[in-house]
Amino acid sequence: MQNRRTFLKTAALAALAPAAVAGQNLAGEPSTAGFAINRGGGGRMKMTFFPYELRLRHVFTVASYSRTTTPDVQVEIAYEGLTGYGEASMPPYLGETTESVMAFLSRVDLGQFADPFQLEEILGYVDSLSPRDTAAKAAVDIALHDLVGKLLGAPWYRIWGLDKAKAPSTTFTIGIDTPEVVRAKTKECEGLFNILKVKLGRDNDKEMIETIRSVTDLPIAVDANQGWTDRQQALDMIHWLKEQGVVMVEQPLSKERLDDSAWITQHSPLPIFADESLQRLADVPALKGAFSGINIKLMKCTGMREARKMVTVAHALGMRAMLGCMTETSCAVSAAAQLSPLADFADLDGNLLISNDRFVGMEVVKGKITLNDHSGIGIVKR
Ligand SMILES: [Mg+2]
Repeated sequence: MQNRRTFLKTAALAALAPAAVAGQNLAGEPSTAGFAINRGGGGRMKMTFFPYELRLRHVFTVASYSRTTTPDVQVEIAYEGLTGYGEASMPPYLGETTESVMAFLSRVDLGQFADPFQLEEILGYVDSLSPRDTAAKAAVDIALHDLVGKLLGAPWYRIWGLDKAKAPSTTFTIGIDTPEVVRAKTKECEGLFNILKVKLGRDNDKEMIETIRSVTDLPIAVDANQGWTDRQQALDMIHWLKEQGVVMVEQPLSKERLDDSAWITQHSPLPIFADESLQRLADVPALKGAFSGINIKLMKCTGMREARKMVTVAHALGMRAMLGCMTETSCAVSAAAQLSPLADFADLDGNLLISNDRFVGMEVVKGKITLNDHSGIGIVKR
């Protein structure tokens, strides 16, 4: 039976509850890591978001178009005095826009969850809101991971049990241009990068490689972007590329031609990676045999949680994993980099391509992905 004194004490604690009692949660149990976990319902995570147009340092040209900006939406989730940062980057070919991302995010109600640690619950709910919107979902996922890492006081590579010394070098993309410009850009990479990436799949493929080879011996990763049509010609090209010091080839044929890709992978002297052939975790098993590995991008797969699972499934199927990105700030790039110790290749140069990065995060030191020890996804606002 409750006497008057106990009653008053309980009432006082209840009144204090929304402000959180340091070191205690509502049930009076000791809390973890020195912060109070709000189990009282009502939720106190608060998500805000705003459009942020990324300005590209150089005009970006691929086979079908050129552009100088990339639409992007920045997300912040505040909880217990901490803020987790996330972002959605929307290159035009993926079908999401600033409007679609803003509309999706305004439907997300994080207030229904007691605390941010229920990542599986929360992100399952976010994913259930629509069939696509993968970049918008990734923005929430990245911000939540950043927040949870900050609450735990640890970077995600540590939470995942990874060794940051095993992070690979990142490729740096040499854009398609005149031979003079390609030579100049390649020379600029000297000492800064250990591996270059080249987009092929046009009619001047050999010329592009020879131009780069005229100024450097660095290994080259090739992305054909579905540009080759005849499988025998593609295989002949891959043999020639190997002689030129190319170390891997991404998406040689159109995304649905899995049987022909399997034939190439079977005969290829180089590992063949899928990019356009996959989006999410559920797509991975069907690619076994058709490719040697998969290119995982947070904006395509809804974020860090699913990306981690994709690496696990790829490895379980005997496939390799690489990490890619869009043009994006150091926020999403650093989030992807947390997984990079598990990757054979990384193509995480998206933040280097923009002139208005809001964050400082993962750094490329002598070509290698270098993770810092900031908690969460390892970023600090500029
Ligand atoms: Mg690609």
